[in-house]
Amino acid sequence: LLQMFQPLSFLGVMYRQIKESITDVERMFGLLGRPREIEDKPDARALDVVAGEVRFDHVNFAYNADRPILRDVSFAIPAGNTVAAVGASGAGKSTLARLLFRFYDIQQGSITIDGQDIRHVTQDSLRAAIGVVPQDTVLFNDSIYYNIAYGRPEASREEVIEAARAAHILAFIESLPQGWDTVVGERGLKLSGGEKQRVAIARTLLKNPAILILDEATSALDTQTEKAIQGELLEIARSRTSLIIAHRLSTVVEADEILVMEGGRIVERGRHPDLLVKNGVYAHMWALQQQAEDETA
Ligand code: ADP
Ligand code: MG
Repeated sequence: LLQMFQPLSFLGVMYRQIKESITDVERMFGLLGRPREIEDKPDARALDVVAGEVRFDHVNFAYNADRPILRDVSFAIPAGNTVAAVGASGAGKSTLARLLFRFYDIQQGSITIDGQDIRHVTQDSLRAAIGVVPQDTVLFNDSIYYNIAYGRPEASREEVIEAARAAHILAFIESLPQGWDTVVGERGLKLSGGEKQRVAIARTLLKNPAILILDEATSALDTQTEKAIQGELLEIARSRTSLIIAHRLSTVVEADEILVMEGGRIVERGRHPDLLVKNGVYAHMWALQQQAEDETA
Protein backbone atom coordinates (compact mmCIF):
# COMPACT_ATOMS: atom_id res chain seq x y z
CA LEU A 1 0.00 0.00 0.00
CA LEU A 2 2.77 2.39 0.89
CA GLN A 3 4.29 1.92 -2.60
CA MET A 4 1.24 3.53 -4.18
CA PHE A 5 1.91 6.74 -2.35
CA GLN A 6 5.61 6.92 -3.12
CA PRO A 7 5.47 10.41 -4.76
CA LEU A 8 3.72 11.69 -1.67
CA SER A 9 6.13 10.08 0.72
CA PHE A 10 7.74 13.39 1.65
CA LEU A 11 4.39 14.86 2.61
CA GLY A 12 3.54 11.62 4.35
CA VAL A 13 6.62 11.84 6.51
CA MET A 14 5.85 15.42 7.43
CA TYR A 15 2.26 14.58 8.20
CA ARG A 16 3.35 11.72 10.41
CA GLN A 17 5.88 13.85 12.22
CA ILE A 18 3.23 16.44 12.96
CA LYS A 19 0.80 13.82 14.15
CA GLU A 20 3.50 12.25 16.24
CA SER A 21 4.26 15.46 18.04
CA ILE A 22 0.67 16.35 18.81
CA THR A 23 -0.82 12.98 19.47
CA ASP A 24 1.79 10.83 21.02
CA VAL A 25 4.17 13.03 22.86
CA GLU A 26 1.67 15.33 24.46
CA ARG A 27 -1.30 13.12 25.08
CA MET A 28 0.48 9.90 25.78
CA PHE A 29 0.30 10.27 29.52
CA GLY A 30 -3.13 11.84 29.61
CA LEU A 31 -1.71 15.22 30.43
CA LEU A 32 -4.18 17.71 31.80
CA GLY A 33 -2.69 20.81 30.23
CA ARG A 34 -0.04 21.48 27.71
CA PRO A 35 3.39 21.00 29.21
CA ARG A 36 5.87 23.82 29.01
CA GLU A 37 8.17 23.42 26.03
CA ILE A 38 11.15 21.29 26.88
CA GLU A 39 14.05 22.02 24.58
CA ASP A 40 17.28 20.24 23.85
CA LYS A 41 20.35 21.99 25.19
CA PRO A 42 22.52 23.39 22.38
CA ASP A 43 25.25 20.90 23.30
CA ALA A 44 22.87 17.96 23.95
CA ARG A 45 24.33 14.58 23.08
CA ALA A 46 22.57 11.33 22.23
CA LEU A 47 21.85 9.19 25.27
CA ASP A 48 24.28 6.31 25.36
CA VAL A 49 22.42 3.37 26.87
CA VAL A 50 25.09 1.03 28.17
CA ALA A 51 23.23 -1.06 30.73
CA GLY A 52 20.05 0.91 31.31
CA GLU A 53 20.36 1.92 34.97
CA VAL A 54 17.81 4.54 36.04
CA ARG A 55 18.38 6.78 39.06
CA PHE A 56 16.20 9.42 40.74
CA ASP A 57 18.31 11.38 43.21
CA HIS A 58 16.57 13.70 45.70
CA VAL A 59 14.00 14.74 43.13
CA ASN A 60 11.64 17.60 43.95
CA PHE A 61 9.02 18.53 41.43
CA ALA A 62 5.93 20.74 41.08
CA TYR A 63 3.71 21.26 38.01
CA ASN A 64 2.87 24.68 39.44
CA ALA A 65 5.27 26.44 41.77
CA ASP A 66 2.69 26.81 44.52
CA ARG A 67 1.97 23.10 44.86
CA PRO A 68 4.86 20.68 45.41
CA ILE A 69 4.11 17.22 44.02
CA LEU A 70 7.22 15.05 44.44
CA ARG A 71 9.24 15.56 47.60
CA ASP A 72 12.76 14.26 47.94
CA VAL A 73 12.22 11.12 45.88
CA SER A 74 15.26 8.88 45.54
CA PHE A 75 15.44 5.41 44.09
CA ALA A 76 17.49 3.43 41.61
CA ILE A 77 16.52 0.75 39.15
CA PRO A 78 19.68 -1.26 38.52
CA ALA A 79 20.00 -2.41 34.91
CA GLY A 80 17.54 -5.21 34.23
CA ASN A 81 15.68 -4.80 37.51
CA THR A 82 12.03 -4.05 38.11
CA VAL A 83 10.87 -1.35 40.50
CA ALA A 84 7.18 -0.93 41.23
CA ALA A 85 5.37 2.16 42.46
CA VAL A 86 2.09 1.73 44.30
CA GLY A 87 -0.17 4.03 46.28
CA ALA A 88 -3.46 5.86 46.16
CA SER A 89 -4.59 7.86 43.15
CA GLY A 90 -2.88 11.26 43.18
CA ALA A 91 0.16 10.00 45.10
CA GLY A 92 2.50 10.96 42.24
CA LYS A 93 3.11 7.63 40.52
CA SER A 94 2.41 8.70 36.94
CA THR A 95 4.48 11.82 37.57
CA LEU A 96 7.53 9.56 37.98
CA ALA A 97 6.88 8.18 34.50
CA ARG A 98 6.36 11.63 32.96
CA LEU A 99 9.60 12.90 34.50
CA LEU A 100 11.64 9.94 33.31
CA PHE A 101 10.31 10.64 29.80
CA ARG A 102 11.20 14.30 30.43
CA PHE A 103 7.84 15.86 29.76
CA TYR A 104 8.86 18.30 32.49
CA ASP A 105 12.14 19.33 34.05
CA ILE A 106 12.51 18.87 37.77
CA GLN A 107 13.21 21.73 40.18
CA GLN A 108 15.76 19.96 42.37
CA GLY A 109 17.80 16.79 42.27
CA SER A 110 18.64 14.73 39.20
CA ILE A 111 17.37 11.92 37.04
CA THR A 112 20.03 9.91 35.26
CA ILE A 113 20.23 6.97 32.90
CA ASP A 114 23.57 5.20 33.02
CA GLY A 115 24.97 8.24 34.77
CA GLN A 116 23.81 10.74 32.13
CA ASP A 117 21.51 13.49 33.35
CA ILE A 118 18.43 13.33 31.13
CA ARG A 119 18.46 17.15 30.82
CA HIS A 120 21.75 16.89 28.93
CA VAL A 121 20.74 14.39 26.25
CA THR A 122 18.53 14.84 23.17
CA GLN A 123 14.87 14.15 23.70
CA ASP A 124 14.76 11.92 20.63
CA SER A 125 17.46 9.64 21.97
CA LEU A 126 15.84 9.59 25.43
CA ARG A 127 12.42 8.70 24.08
CA ALA A 128 13.85 6.09 21.73
CA ALA A 129 15.28 4.25 24.74
CA ILE A 130 12.04 4.16 26.71
CA GLY A 131 8.83 2.29 25.95
CA VAL A 132 5.65 3.32 27.70
CA VAL A 133 2.32 1.60 28.07
CA PRO A 134 0.31 4.51 29.48
CA GLN A 135 -2.83 4.59 31.54
CA ASP A 136 -4.75 6.09 28.68
CA THR A 137 -3.67 5.44 25.10
CA VAL A 138 -4.48 7.88 22.34
CA LEU A 139 -4.39 6.33 18.87
CA PHE A 140 -3.43 7.95 15.58
CA ASN A 141 -6.20 8.41 13.00
CA ASP A 142 -4.55 5.84 10.83
CA SER A 143 -4.69 2.10 10.17
CA ILE A 144 -4.38 -0.28 13.06
CA TYR A 145 -1.29 -1.60 11.29
CA TYR A 146 0.32 1.85 11.41
CA ASN A 147 -0.65 2.24 15.04
CA ILE A 148 1.21 -0.91 16.04
CA ALA A 149 4.10 -0.62 13.57
CA TYR A 150 4.75 2.87 14.93
CA GLY A 151 6.58 1.13 17.79
CA ARG A 152 9.33 0.27 15.28
CA PRO A 153 8.52 1.49 11.76
CA GLU A 154 11.24 -0.66 10.18
CA ALA A 155 9.80 -3.88 11.61
CA SER A 156 8.70 -6.59 9.20
CA ARG A 157 5.04 -7.47 8.78
CA GLU A 158 5.69 -10.78 10.54
CA GLU A 159 7.08 -8.97 13.57
CA VAL A 160 4.07 -6.67 13.69
CA ILE A 161 1.75 -9.67 13.56
CA GLU A 162 3.74 -11.41 16.29
CA ALA A 163 3.47 -8.35 18.54
CA ALA A 164 -0.29 -8.25 18.00
CA ARG A 165 -0.55 -11.92 18.83
CA ALA A 166 1.43 -11.52 22.05
CA ALA A 167 -0.77 -8.58 23.05
CA HIS A 168 -3.92 -10.66 22.42
CA ILE A 169 -5.28 -8.31 19.79
CA LEU A 170 -4.56 -10.32 16.62
CA ALA A 171 -7.84 -12.26 16.52
CA PHE A 172 -9.77 -9.02 16.97
CA ILE A 173 -7.89 -7.33 14.10
CA GLU A 174 -8.41 -10.29 11.80
CA SER A 175 -12.13 -10.29 12.57
CA LEU A 176 -12.55 -6.72 11.28
CA PRO A 177 -13.96 -6.43 7.73
CA GLN A 178 -10.96 -4.33 6.68
CA GLY A 179 -8.54 -6.16 8.93
CA TRP A 180 -5.18 -4.46 9.38
CA ASP A 181 -6.24 -1.54 7.16
CA THR A 182 -9.07 -0.54 9.47
CA VAL A 183 -8.69 3.12 10.41
CA VAL A 184 -8.90 3.66 14.16
CA GLY A 185 -8.79 6.72 16.40
CA GLU A 186 -11.10 9.67 16.88
CA ARG A 187 -12.16 9.74 13.24
CA GLY A 188 -12.08 5.99 12.66
CA LEU A 189 -13.26 2.90 14.44
CA LYS A 190 -13.44 3.72 18.13
CA LEU A 191 -11.77 1.02 20.13
CA SER A 192 -12.65 0.20 23.72
CA GLY A 193 -10.25 1.13 26.51
CA GLY A 194 -9.06 -2.46 26.68
CA GLU A 195 -8.50 -2.71 22.92
CA LYS A 196 -6.53 0.53 22.90
CA GLN A 197 -4.43 -0.72 25.78
CA ARG A 198 -3.66 -3.90 23.84
CA VAL A 199 -2.61 -1.82 20.81
CA ALA A 200 -0.25 0.11 23.11
CA ILE A 201 1.12 -3.14 24.50
CA ALA A 202 1.70 -4.52 20.99
CA ARG A 203 3.44 -1.28 19.99
CA THR A 204 5.73 -1.49 23.01
CA LEU A 205 6.49 -5.19 22.50
CA LEU A 206 7.54 -4.29 18.97
CA LYS A 207 9.63 -1.32 20.10
CA ASN A 208 11.54 -3.62 22.44
CA PRO A 209 13.01 -0.71 24.45
CA ALA A 210 15.92 -0.82 26.90
CA ILE A 211 13.74 0.79 29.55
CA LEU A 212 10.09 -0.04 30.06
CA ILE A 213 7.38 1.91 31.86
CA LEU A 214 4.03 0.28 32.50
CA ASP A 215 1.58 2.80 33.96
CA GLU A 216 -1.42 0.79 35.10
CA ALA A 217 -0.99 -0.85 31.74
CA THR A 218 -3.76 -3.38 32.18
CA SER A 219 -6.26 -1.32 34.16
CA ALA A 220 -8.77 -1.16 31.30
CA LEU A 221 -8.72 -4.90 30.65
CA ASP A 222 -11.16 -7.45 32.01
CA THR A 223 -9.68 -9.77 34.60
CA GLN A 224 -9.31 -12.68 32.20
CA THR A 225 -7.48 -10.73 29.49
CA GLU A 226 -5.41 -9.01 32.14
CA LYS A 227 -4.23 -12.37 33.47
CA ALA A 228 -3.42 -13.56 29.95
CA ILE A 229 -1.39 -10.47 29.03
CA GLN A 230 0.23 -10.08 32.43
CA GLY A 231 2.52 -12.97 31.60
CA GLU A 232 3.71 -11.32 28.37
CA LEU A 233 4.28 -8.01 30.10
CA LEU A 234 6.19 -9.49 33.00
CA GLU A 235 8.24 -11.44 30.48
CA ILE A 236 9.33 -8.28 28.63
CA ALA A 237 9.85 -6.54 31.97
CA ARG A 238 12.11 -9.33 33.22
CA SER A 239 14.83 -8.79 30.66
CA ARG A 240 15.07 -4.98 30.93
CA THR A 241 15.00 -2.06 33.33
CA SER A 242 11.36 -1.56 34.27
CA LEU A 243 9.22 0.84 36.23
CA ILE A 244 5.82 -0.68 36.88
CA ILE A 245 3.00 1.41 38.24
CA ALA A 246 0.29 -0.89 39.42
CA HIS A 247 -3.17 -0.66 40.83
CA ARG A 248 -3.41 -4.38 41.38
CA LEU A 249 -0.77 -5.41 43.89
CA SER A 250 -0.63 -9.01 42.68
CA THR A 251 1.36 -7.71 39.69
CA VAL A 252 4.18 -6.28 41.79
CA VAL A 253 4.82 -9.24 44.09
CA GLU A 254 7.92 -10.18 42.12
CA ALA A 255 9.41 -6.68 41.87
CA ASP A 256 12.98 -6.15 43.06
CA GLU A 257 11.79 -3.14 45.02
CA ILE A 258 8.33 -1.73 45.74
CA LEU A 259 7.98 2.00 46.42
CA VAL A 260 4.87 2.90 48.40
CA MET A 261 3.92 6.49 47.63
CA GLU A 262 1.77 8.88 49.59
CA GLY A 263 1.46 12.61 48.90
CA GLY A 264 4.50 12.65 46.62
CA ARG A 265 6.81 10.91 49.07
CA ILE A 266 8.09 7.38 49.32
CA VAL A 267 6.72 6.30 52.68
CA GLU A 268 7.74 2.63 52.56
CA ARG A 269 10.02 0.57 50.37
CA GLY A 270 11.22 -2.98 50.05
CA ARG A 271 10.33 -6.35 48.61
CA HIS A 272 6.84 -7.76 48.97
CA PRO A 273 7.53 -10.24 51.80
CA ASP A 274 9.50 -7.66 53.80
CA LEU A 275 6.74 -5.10 53.43
CA LEU A 276 4.17 -7.61 54.64
CA VAL A 277 6.27 -8.31 57.73
CA LYS A 278 6.55 -4.58 58.36
CA ASN A 279 2.79 -4.50 58.74
CA GLY A 280 2.50 -0.86 57.61
CA VAL A 281 0.82 0.95 54.70
CA TYR A 282 1.61 -1.73 52.12
CA ALA A 283 0.49 -4.63 54.30
CA HIS A 284 -2.77 -2.79 54.89
CA MET A 285 -3.30 -2.18 51.17
CA TRP A 286 -2.55 -5.82 50.49
CA ALA A 287 -5.04 -7.03 53.09
CA LEU A 288 -7.77 -4.77 51.70
CA GLN A 289 -7.18 -6.00 48.18
CA GLN A 290 -7.16 -9.65 49.16
CA GLN A 291 -10.43 -9.10 50.94
CA ALA A 292 -11.98 -7.39 47.91
CA GLU A 293 -10.83 -10.20 45.62
CA ASP A 294 -12.27 -12.84 47.94
CA GLU A 295 -15.59 -11.04 47.93
CA THR A 296 -15.82 -10.89 44.15
CA ALA A 297 -14.55 -14.44 43.65
P1 ADP B 1 -1.02 9.04 40.40
O1 ADP B 1 -0.50 8.52 39.11
O2 ADP B 1 -0.33 8.47 41.59
O3 ADP B 1 -2.51 8.88 40.51
P2 ADP B 1 -0.16 11.64 39.39
O4 ADP B 1 1.31 11.51 39.34
O5 ADP B 1 -0.90 11.52 38.10
O6 ADP B 1 -0.74 10.62 40.47
O7 ADP B 1 -0.54 13.04 40.03
C1 ADP B 1 0.04 13.50 41.24
C2 ADP B 1 -0.54 14.87 41.55
O8 ADP B 1 -0.16 15.79 40.54
C3 ADP B 1 -2.06 14.89 41.61
O9 ADP B 1 -2.44 15.69 42.70
C4 ADP B 1 -2.45 15.53 40.30
O10 ADP B 1 -3.65 16.25 40.44
C5 ADP B 1 -1.30 16.46 40.02
N1 ADP B 1 -1.10 16.65 38.58
C6 ADP B 1 -0.96 15.66 37.65
N2 ADP B 1 -0.75 16.18 36.42
C7 ADP B 1 -0.80 17.53 36.56
C8 ADP B 1 -0.65 18.63 35.65
N3 ADP B 1 -0.42 18.44 34.35
N4 ADP B 1 -0.75 19.88 36.16
C9 ADP B 1 -0.96 20.08 37.47
N5 ADP B 1 -1.11 19.09 38.38
C10 ADP B 1 -1.03 17.83 37.94
MG1 MG C 1 -1.46 7.60 37.49
